[in-house]
Amino acid sequence: MKEAICHICLKNRPMTKNHVPALGGFNSGPIIYTKGKNIVRSMEYPNEPVRTSMNHNGMYYLNGCGECNNGVGSIYASEYIRWANAVDNSFNQNVIFDVKDLKPLLFIKQLIFDFLIINNISFSQEHILLAKFLLDKNMCIKLAPKYNIYIGVNIYGDGRVVGGPSFIEETADNWLSSDRIYLSEIVHYPFAYQLVLDKKINAPHRSHLVDITHFSEDIEIVLPDLPLVKCVGALPNSFEPA
Ligand SMILES: [Zn+2]
Repeated sequence: MKEAICHICLKNRPMTKNHVPALGGFNSGPIIYTKGKNIVRSMEYPNEPVRTSMNHNGMYYLNGCGECNNGVGSIYASEYIRWANAVDNSFNQNVIFDVKDLKPLLFIKQLIFDFLIINNISFSQEHILLAKFLLDKNMCIKLAPKYNIYIGVNIYGDGRVVGGPSFIEETADNWLSSDRIYLSEIVHYPFAYQLVLDKKINAPHRSHLVDITHFSEDIEIVLPDLPLVKCVGALPNSFEPA
């Protein structure tokens, strides 16, 4: 694989496939996806079919090195997978979400891992505290209050990945922000999670998961209370199961 600056360790290394969400978190099957530029193009040429691509093995990005992906990434990914499976079980078998010995610190670090992977390298360089937070798996620090993470449960099949400054706009009964904010969003079965910089947003269909300023390892997250999220409208890198 070609060398590039890893979005996690910021070292120049051979890149590897980084699945977002984690490979074992229902992200291994074939998907059809559309890049943002193709969605913009489809607005200009509404009569032409939207250009799509297919990944046979889920959504992934070549933005992290193998050492990070297999090191800290796999530690956090396995916790994410545990949570994802628990949500899946609770929906499909109608059982109460019940996982013993949850490790929210690792789960949240996996979300941050994903946000660093999907954004540009300049995002990792600018927010170097996020990568430091990841690289030490025991690190439990106070980050600036600018980092807000929201999460909901997404049981719908389609999804999207968004990075960079964005307008958020969904239907009126969902939530709406007319402000331009820095947003990273990953919507994929069974979660929808967002990183919003600099401000809190009014997101009734998502829980404000963590205010990292008051973050500690014993943070309690009660998943059955997570609201449902439906992915509405096409945004950059929309995808659906093939
Ligand atoms: Zn790395």
